[in-house]
Amino acid sequence: MRLLESPDYQLLGYFWGKRQQHKCSWLQYADDALIIANSLSAAQGLVRLFEAWCEWAKMDIRLDKCLCFGATMRDGKFIQISPNINLKDKGMIPAVPLGGHFKYLGKIFDFPALNSEPKKEFESKLVKILAKISSLQVRSQTKLKIFSTYVPAQFNFELKIYKLTDAFLSGVIDRLCTRYIREWLEFPPSSCVTEWASSPTEYCGLGIPTFAQRAARMSLTRRHLLQVSKNSSIRDLWEDTKGPNVRVDSLLDNRDLNKASAILRESQAKESTDHFLGLQTQGIMAKTVVEAVLPRNIQLWKHAMDSLPQHIFNFARKAMQSQLPTLHNLKLWNRSPTGFCPRCGWEQTNKHVLSNCSFPDALARYTDRHNRILELIAKWIVPQLKSNYALYCDLSVPGARPVCDLFNGFRPDLAIVSPTKIVIGELTVCHETNLIKSRDYKLQKYANLDAAKSSEFSRHSVLVNTIEISTLGFVVAEPNFFKHGEIPVFDSLLMKELSRSAVTASKSIYDNR
Ligand SMILES: [Zn+2]
Repeated sequence: MRLLESPDYQLLGYFWGKRQQHKCSWLQYADDALIIANSLSAAQGLVRLFEAWCEWAKMDIRLDKCLCFGATMRDGKFIQISPNINLKDKGMIPAVPLGGHFKYLGKIFDFPALNSEPKKEFESKLVKILAKISSLQVRSQTKLKIFSTYVPAQFNFELKIYKLTDAFLSGVIDRLCTRYIREWLEFPPSSCVTEWASSPTEYCGLGIPTFAQRAARMSLTRRHLLQVSKNSSIRDLWEDTKGPNVRVDSLLDNRDLNKASAILRESQAKESTDHFLGLQTQGIMAKTVVEAVLPRNIQLWKHAMDSLPQHIFNFARKAMQSQLPTLHNLKLWNRSPTGFCPRCGWEQTNKHVLSNCSFPDALARYTDRHNRILELIAKWIVPQLKSNYALYCDLSVPGARPVCDLFNGFRPDLAIVSPTKIVIGELTVCHETNLIKSRDYKLQKYANLDAAKSSEFSRHSVLVNTIEISTLGFVVAEPNFFKHGEIPVFDSLLMKELSRSAVTASKSIYDNR
């Protein structure tokens, strides 16, 4: 085989590289050999050499496993041909039919190199997997989890070896995924799911990158590996293929891979969130939540939602994007003649159903939801109190005193009372879009609370703080409430319980609309 390295045999092979300094006539992988030649006679010569070598090594060439593939220039254009190459005693090596393809080391090659075959295989494999997930008797959250962890790993090979176009990945593959996610979450067909699903969880998204995004990340790694390869031919390959990779390569300019990956991820996340939060109807709630709620609390909310039964999880996800079939939406979707609330006559929007309906039954349910949440908080605070502190509460809770003892004419929800201070915690359960407004309203309402102290507490200073919990369970609590009340901040167990309690109550309110 030393012969192959001699200049005469090298000249039989294929030349590549900008300066054509690379010659390649032979690739060997285990017992698999690939001959590359620049003419039919050169190819036949190399085959003869291979036959001689196999004879010497007592190895048999299986004609049924051989194939040949060729192209030639005609009228200034490359076209595929059927080369005539034979094995001495066995006959012609079958040629890849014109327009056909062949597989080498798992990768499919075809003459137009448009990857049409790999694309077909990718799509049908994905359809099969998604249909299988759909048929599983598990909650939609679990389906999403399988989708985000198991599915991408099944396509690592394809994403790594084929350069699939963005048009294919976004237009076919991601669209297909979106169709299934929509089905699992029972979203209406019109809703915009791709950007929402790929937005990070701290922006109320699902944090599942699209295939187009994953492919871009992989191509970054691939370019990096070529660039820093120890093999100079590979580095030349990198140099020679810079043209179509300008964008990816620019990320790696003067940066290591980790830094470049972080920048890419960040820009992908930004692209998704900008689109999602910019949606006039579907993005408005997430937008205010992101402004008002701490990222940690949004993460806890996600965990709380994931732990709920499917019908409540789907409800919360749909409600977050104003995609519930309220009469307002049904009218928009041409599925109801009216958009008005049958109880009170106002436009029946998401916000109306969950927090604004003036019908007495609805009002009673809102109060009930508020009190259930208040009770959870009060019961949690009591054991956390310092020894000379007491909790006053507007509900009767073991260990808490009645709040009406503190003020004349005002009944805030919670007050932690020390020998010198009254630290108010006023709870509002409000719609997501009102998280900030509710706080301002309550602070204004209690601006003169100090003047209403009952005589027993006349020397106490009054500190007013608010706690807002949204109808779908996002928690915002003023840090000063904990600081001045000298209790620890809400722990994650309570936070998740509050989220679950709020959204479960809201689901029941919605069901009774
Ligand atoms: Zn109403």
